[in-house]
Amino acid sequence: SWGSFVDKHVFEWSSEDEEPDGKARPVQVLLVKDDHTFELDEAALSRILLAKDIRDREIVAISVAGAFRKGKSFLMDFMLRYMYNQASEDWVGDPDVPLTGFSWRGGSERETTGIQIWSEVFLVDKPDGNKVAVLLMDTQGTFDSQSTLRDSATVFALSTMISSMQVYNISQNVQEDDLQHLQLFTEYGRLAMEETFLKPFQSMIFLVRDWSFPYEFPYGQEGGMKFLEKRLKISENQHEELQNVRKHIHSCFTNISCFLMPHPGLKVATNPHFDGRLKEIDSEFIGNLNVLVPWLLSPKNLDVKEINGSKITCRGLLEYFKAYIKIYQG
Ligand code: GDP
Ligand code: MG
Repeated sequence: SWGSFVDKHVFEWSSEDEEPDGKARPVQVLLVKDDHTFELDEAALSRILLAKDIRDREIVAISVAGAFRKGKSFLMDFMLRYMYNQASEDWVGDPDVPLTGFSWRGGSERETTGIQIWSEVFLVDKPDGNKVAVLLMDTQGTFDSQSTLRDSATVFALSTMISSMQVYNISQNVQEDDLQHLQLFTEYGRLAMEETFLKPFQSMIFLVRDWSFPYEFPYGQEGGMKFLEKRLKISENQHEELQNVRKHIHSCFTNISCFLMPHPGLKVATNPHFDGRLKEIDSEFIGNLNVLVPWLLSPKNLDVKEINGSKITCRGLLEYFKAYIKIYQG
């Protein structure tokens, strides 16, 4: 079960780590402070990425980004469940067990803007025999005012630069301003990187939550791709600005895809006492979760992080992270 996996791991892991209770947990590695300056917790990041058994492994870095209160951390916790229960058919868990991991909750008060990573980096055997290290990153942006748009841009840019897969979590639909934000954020990232002839970033996944037009485009990845093709289509009679946003997005990512998720049900969305247990989540949502998470994380689908065409190790990623943050701290 989930609990025993955690216990087993906690035991193995605590011997190396300095955390007081040795439990795997989210670690805030990038913090955007109230005065809009950035702080990188280099010690924490080093402790995680330079652990003996992973530091020289190639890294797969998965990030989820987007505005507050749209279910990112909730999804991340299911990704953690999958990582801890890879081999199991019912990785998604017990109907009555609360969901734990990254903190997620209801309400509308603000939370820290920045990047959190899971303190445990997972070792996974790919079908080609390569053993890779998998890092999960949860990010927060605010997107709510001019002053915080810059903060969000930095968080989004950095997480895109250091991940091999960016999941852009959006609510209900892909609106024009979601695309404009993406353009702004990736432009912000690209400015900080060396010019190359290669596309600067790897995979971008538009994850649309609470999709409510399944009769037009069905839930899942195929419906998502058809929907996205339509939204990202460039046509002659479009306003130049709309064309440019689309061209820019296509020029930034090697792979672009989309997944349409159903609404999880009213208990998830509105009940303040909901603790994440499966039995209170709509079965259609769980069914799609069972498709989405393996699609994102199954060993054959994990792509190693590349920068300028070279594969990056955990140790390498730490160096890039430090170099990139310096640029934004200017
Ligand atoms: P985050 O700020 O994006 O990380 O959002 P959280 O994961 O903390 O979730 C915020 C709230 O949204 C919680 O009350 C969750 O129960 C709820 N939630 C989670 N997933 C979904 C979803 O797919 N749709 C809706 N409508 N609510 C969700
Ligand atoms: Mg969150």
